[in-house]
Amino acid sequence: MPHLVIAGGGFAGFWGALSAVRQAEALGRRPDTLITLINRDAYHGIRPRFYEAEVTSARVPLERWLTPLGIQVVTAEILEAEAVSRRLHLARGRVMDYDALILATGSSLSVPAVFGADRVFHVDTFTGADVLHQHLRALADTGFPTEASRTVAVIGAGLTGLEVVTALPERLRALAPQAPEFAVHLIDRATEVGLDYESEAGRYIRDRLRHLGIVVHAGQEVVHHEGCVLRLKDGTVVPAATVILATGLRASPLAAAFSGPRDALGRLAVDDFLRLPEHPEVLAAGDVSWARTDANRSALMSCQHAIPQGKFAGHNAVNLLFGRDLVPYAQPRYNTCLDLGPEDALVTVGWERRLQTIGPDAKALKTEILTRWIHPPADLDEALALAWPPLDRQPGGVPDGAD
Ligand SMILES: Cc1cc2nc3c(=O)[nH]c(=O)nc-3n(C[C@H](O)[C@H](O)[C@H](O)COP(=O)(O)OP(=O)(O)OC[C@H]3O[C@@H](n4cnc5c(N)ncnc54)[C@H](O)[C@@H]3O)c2cc1C
Repeated sequence: MPHLVIAGGGFAGFWGALSAVRQAEALGRRPDTLITLINRDAYHGIRPRFYEAEVTSARVPLERWLTPLGIQVVTAEILEAEAVSRRLHLARGRVMDYDALILATGSSLSVPAVFGADRVFHVDTFTGADVLHQHLRALADTGFPTEASRTVAVIGAGLTGLEVVTALPERLRALAPQAPEFAVHLIDRATEVGLDYESEAGRYIRDRLRHLGIVVHAGQEVVHHEGCVLRLKDGTVVPAATVILATGLRASPLAAAFSGPRDALGRLAVDDFLRLPEHPEVLAAGDVSWARTDANRSALMSCQHAIPQGKFAGHNAVNLLFGRDLVPYAQPRYNTCLDLGPEDALVTVGWERRLQTIGPDAKALKTEILTRWIHPPADLDEALALAWPPLDRQPGGVPDGAD
C-alpha cells in the first residue's frame, strides 16, 4: 500500500492531510492509501494567534480531526531525513519510510547572535507565548516594582512585531491596573516603520504607534544585551526586563536534507506542482517551500499561503501515488489584515499593500480570520469540503476526481 507521509501538523501539513484524504476518496483509492502525519507535539497550532494574551484556545488536538479520517498521527520529533532512501528518522530511534512526502515543517524564529536565547521571549510557538505570559504574570505578582520590570522592548517591526507591540499597552494594563506607567519600545533596523506598506497604510501604522504611546527606535539595532539592559547602535540604553524578539523566520532545518536550490530564508524551490525538482516524490508546502504564486511573485511565509499550498500538496501527493495528473499551484491574489491593538486593525489589498479598511471594521475582520477562517471547522465533513485546493483560480478547470 503506498505510504504518504506528512511531516508537520501546522497549516500546510494539517490541510495537506485533509486534502489527501479527500482526493484519495475521490479517486476511490482511500482503502489503498496509508497516510501518516508526524508532528513534534499533539497539536495543530494556530500560530498567528500566539501574540494574544490568552493562547489556550490557539491550538487544537490533531487527533480530533485526523484520527476519525483514518490518518495515523505520530507525535515525534523528526530528527533527520534521508532523501535517497526515502526515510525519516524520528526521536527514540524510530524510522518512517515513505513513497511520497509532504514536507511541511514550517519555520522558526531567527535569533540574532547579540541575544542570549535564555534572556529573551518570543511568540513563535505556543510554548514561547505561554512562557511570555507566565513571565508577565510573575512581574505583575510583584507589582512591577522597577522601571525595567515596567519596560518591554519588541525587536522587529514586521507583521508579528507590530501585532505584539500594539497589543502590549492594553495587555500590561490589564495585568496591573494600579501600576505606574509602562514603557513599550519598538526597535527596528528600517529607517521608518511600515515601509513595506503603501504610503497611506504605512502612515496609518506610524500614527497608531504614536497614539498608543509606543516609543519607536527606527534605523536602530541592538548592539548589546545584558541582564535587563539593551544598548542600541546610537548609544541609547533601554532598561527592559522583557525583550520580545520578532526578528524574522527561517525555514525548518529539515529542508537542508534535500538537494536543490533554496532562497535566503532556507526555503526549498519547488516546481509548479510544489514538488522538489531533484526529489519529485517530495512536495514542500508552507514556510518551508519557495513557491511561485504567479509569473512574478513568490509566496511569503504566511498562513495565507501555507493553507492553500497544503491543499494543493495533499491533492498532488495522492495523484502522484496513483499516476494521475497534478494540478499547478497558483495564488495571485494577496491581501493582509494587521492587528493594531484595541478596536483597530488595517486591511490592505494587493502586493503593494494599499490601505483598504481601518478601525473597528478591520478589527472585526481580523477576529473573524483568527477564530474562523484559519481555524478548522468542528464538523469533519465541512473540514473535508474546505480541503479542496482553490481550483477556481486554476486555468485548467476541474482535475481528476473533482466530480
Ligand atoms: C505571532 C505570529 C503572527 C502571524 N500572523 C500571521 C498573519 O496574520 N497572517 C499570515 O498569513 N501569517 C501569519 N503568521 C505566519 C504563519 O503563522 C506561518 O506562515 C504559518 O504558520 C506557516 O505554516 P506552516 O504549516 O508552513 O508551518 P507551521 O504552522 O509552523 O507548522 C509547522 C509544524 O511542523 C512541526 N514541526 C516542525 N519541525 C518539526 C520536526 N523536526 N519534527 C516534527 N514536527 C516538526 C511544528 O511543530 C508545527 O506544528 C504569523 C506567525 C506568527 C508567529
